Amino acid sequence: MNCYNHGDQVAVSQCRDCNKGLCDYCAHFYQIPLCISCNQLHIDYEKKKIKKEFFWTLVLGTITAATMFFLLITSEMPPDKTINDVYLRTLITFFVFAPIVPGWYALNSFGSNFKGFFLIFSLPGLFVFYALKVLVSIPVGLIALPIRFVRNAKRLKDLNAIPLEYS
Ligand SMILES: [Zn+2]
Ligand SMILES: [Zn+2]
Repeated sequence: MNCYNHGDQVAVSQCRDCNKGLCDYCAHFYQIPLCISCNQLHIDYEKKKIKKEFFWTLVLGTITAATMFFLLITSEMPPDKTINDVYLRTLITFFVFAPIVPGWYALNSFGSNFKGFFLIFSLPGLFVFYALKVLVSIPVGLIALPIRFVRNAKRLKDLNAIPLEYS
């Protein structure tokens, strides 16, 4: 078999995903032997996952903060409360709810082995499981949010820098 990209070169490896032949040069282009089109799929998949996490973090934080802001300005304010208190509480609300998303993802990466235990109790057990997971996601997310944000931003930058053309 010859390299799919360099027809005159003997294939020393194969693409992990589609089994196309890869020469010595093409086999070491990425961490694992992959052809360009399969690597593009890997990159797209990873990018989509990262963007999804950014998006839902922002959406959840914004919706809950906007709701809190609306409730605060429509409710009767004590005379000693100022508009700055409203802004502060809105901001706090954002940082209580937004971390649920990265917290949730972080918990997922720890594995969901203990999920089976709750499945014994079927539907109510599953509801309790997810309710608990949301609650645990808040403190976990407070730590996970900055860590995952930096890590994901760096990964996105690295993914964009991966060359997708052979010479
Ligand atoms: Zn391939
Ligand atoms: Zn090649």
